[in-house]
Amino acid sequence: MLLTPRTRKRRIQGALLASAVSVCLVAASAPSPATPLGIGDRLFPHLGNPGYDVKSYDLSFTYPGVNDKPLAAVTTIDAVTSQRLERVNLDYTHGTVESVEVNGAPATFTSAGEDLVVTPGEPVPAGGWMRITVRHSSDPVTTGNGDGGWVRTKDGLAMANQADAAHMVFPCNDHPSDKAMFTIHVTAPDGYTAVANGLPAGVHRAGGSTTWTYRTRHPMATELTQVSIGRSSVAHREGPHGLPLRDVVPTKDRELLEPWLKKTPDQIAWMESKVGPYPFETYGLLMAQAQTGFELETQTLSLFERELFTEPALPKWYVESIMVHELSHQWFGDSVSPRVWSDLWLNEGHATWYEALYAEEKADKPMETRMKTAYRASDSWRAAGGPPAAPKEPAPGRKISIFRPSVYDGAALALYALRQEIGHPTFERLERTWVALHRDGTATTADFERLASDLANRDLSGFFRAWLHGTKTPPMPGHPDWKSDAPKARKGA
Ligand SMILES: [Zn+2]
Repeated sequence: MLLTPRTRKRRIQGALLASAVSVCLVAASAPSPATPLGIGDRLFPHLGNPGYDVKSYDLSFTYPGVNDKPLAAVTTIDAVTSQRLERVNLDYTHGTVESVEVNGAPATFTSAGEDLVVTPGEPVPAGGWMRITVRHSSDPVTTGNGDGGWVRTKDGLAMANQADAAHMVFPCNDHPSDKAMFTIHVTAPDGYTAVANGLPAGVHRAGGSTTWTYRTRHPMATELTQVSIGRSSVAHREGPHGLPLRDVVPTKDRELLEPWLKKTPDQIAWMESKVGPYPFETYGLLMAQAQTGFELETQTLSLFERELFTEPALPKWYVESIMVHELSHQWFGDSVSPRVWSDLWLNEGHATWYEALYAEEKADKPMETRMKTAYRASDSWRAAGGPPAAPKEPAPGRKISIFRPSVYDGAALALYALRQEIGHPTFERLERTWVALHRDGTATTADFERLASDLANRDLSGFFRAWLHGTKTPPMPGHPDWKSDAPKARKGA
């Protein structure tokens, strides 16, 4: 994700207005006290659920032709249990559940916090497959100014689930540590086009509506789900090595946006020259007619505000570097996902790094200048948001407040220090090895630290303790003259 400076203020204000999401599950019965569970993520204690590993999601959405009414939805989850389950907790809120089946038999259900708690007729044994089918609504109307989940665009809907909003759209194990394959079906009235993550797997037209099916070829975290429904066109082109690219644009703007869209193949080639092969089956930009205040690296189809490309005040090099930011997330954040949300700096630090490196190489904006500026602010960022790898908890009602400068330029600054410390060749080898080693998986900060030490052939634990976990910015290797301004006394982050 990238909060664009021009809209940062608006987005934060919007988030402040947002109140708790409404829970309106219909409880078929409440057999015994159900409690919301989580997998112990320090920043989001109730995300994810213990006892099972989701292997695949099959999502079906039926769009009614207006974006202020709930979509009818069916979510089917295939999972493997790791323990005997008398109850199965799913993350789900902001919708109505009609029915739940577990392994083909009706199950009872109730809500607890932001969990949908399912009680099958018979406990599900450990170590076996479990299929859960939930018939539910998926409501695009959020309280407040959009807490994520569905994004209402001028002509339909898009999705922005990072970090914790996928379960406002569909029941799931809403944590990036449980990646799964996705099949997504969208039915919409004629005149609309639907596109989702992955490659097309069928189009079926009947009775004034069309059902599109898309399927991922790689596992994906729930927070990276994307579904676009709109009066849009799909522009196809080819990327490096025949990689199929497709962009989703408002039909009326296709020509206007083409000069930007055609930059993608070269940007992918540039990223491949830095870190190795593009990790997925396709890529493209979704140009949404919405003011989200951010761009988002939804897997294989990054979400952008159309305004980013039509606002004449924004320099061309800046817009291109933002495109590269979201593109680089396909390696850093999507293919290699954070194990816990405190590892967010692995996403944003690297995306900021390649954003800045691209600007240095293509637009003569020196990395060193940007990093020296970041160094000045770094102590203040750490005081406000915590160190890069130990971010402060999100403020209540401001969950996107984890996306702070400390994990963007603050974390890119730590990568710069690392490159200063171990040298360019080892740093570049580390980056390539990292995305190859953890492709389609999840990884932790400790994994990164260990790999860096291995490749540098020396113990870097002291370096990382200071740079990633310390409250004060350590001296910059090679730049002993760099200074960080003292944090000003302030409230909040
Ligand atoms: Zn980002």
